[in-house]
Amino acid sequence: KHAKEHNQFNAFYQEGFDEAHLRRLAIVEQLPKAIARGSFTLVAQPKVRATDGRTVAAEMLIRWHDEQLGWVGPDEFIPLAEQSGMITEITHWVVEQAEQWVNQLRTFEDDIKLSINISAVDLINDKLANDLVALSQRNMQRYLILEVTESALMNEPEKSIACLKMLSELGYEISIDDYGTGYSSLSQIRRLPINELKIDRAFIQYLMTQPDDQSIVRSTIQLAHELNLRVVAEGVEDEASWHWLLANHCDVLQGYYFSKPISFEELHLRLLKEKEHA
Ligand code: C2E
Ligand code: MG
Ligand code: MG
Ligand code: MG
Repeated sequence: KHAKEHNQFNAFYQEGFDEAHLRRLAIVEQLPKAIARGSFTLVAQPKVRATDGRTVAAEMLIRWHDEQLGWVGPDEFIPLAEQSGMITEITHWVVEQAEQWVNQLRTFEDDIKLSINISAVDLINDKLANDLVALSQRNMQRYLILEVTESALMNEPEKSIACLKMLSELGYEISIDDYGTGYSSLSQIRRLPINELKIDRAFIQYLMTQPDDQSIVRSTIQLAHELNLRVVAEGVEDEASWHWLLANHCDVLQGYYFSKPISFEELHLRLLKEKEHA
């Protein structure tokens, strides 16, 4: 009995009182106030054409600074926002911001596209779908790419896939994010309305020293192209990887080598400069 109590105490202590748990509780408590307080900002990371490094799109990435918690990364709070349902409101806010960004950028660059990250939860309730239907009535669909992970589709596959099909028919581009980390294969996702495949950073990170990763990336690019998908490599950090990916026909690259995520003003300036040198 004593041992059992002891174990329970340990479990309670580990699950109940450690610092990480307290931080998660605080995040869940502060999250609902973050939008109204203006604590979220968006940055964007350029997605560049492999052939010449020109910016063809940018991925919007959320940032949160809380007075008490400091900087909280999306990997930390997005999963909690998904669990608490707050993600629906967050995605709504991101979509609103994306429309504002597009409206400013298209005044001088009409070919720009912005990617937004969509959660599993967004695909099974009506809020995002309604927002994007409304946006399409203002002709916004050609400027937006929706990034969805493979695992987001596994949640409620039929509902999620119906939602994606509807959005694709409206003219939004769909991208499979973090490809290769889930359990699906291209044969499973080939029936989905997809335009783009983003190969996960895990396969790109050690590309130059790992022949296995090279085989995986090379064959993924080939197969994706046969299915008429554009291929993006995530997390490109050096010139050698760029050249390797270019030689192996990867279409678009994203990573610190080309640019870290930047503010709206920096993105605006970058696109203006590229326009001048065109
Ligand atoms: P993701 O969509 O796969 O985004 C790419 C992540 O990789 C970003 O991290 C980006 O800063 C990072 N990254 C880009 N290039 C490099 C590189 O060369 N090296 C390394 N080490 N990292 C690189 P971030 O901004 O921390 O976002 C993490 C994840 O959080 C995202 O992964 C996405 O799943 C999620 N997320 C971010 N913003 C949003 C959002 O607005 N809504 C939703 N639902 N999820 C979001
Ligand atoms: Mg993404
Ligand atoms: Mg990704
Ligand atoms: Mg990722």
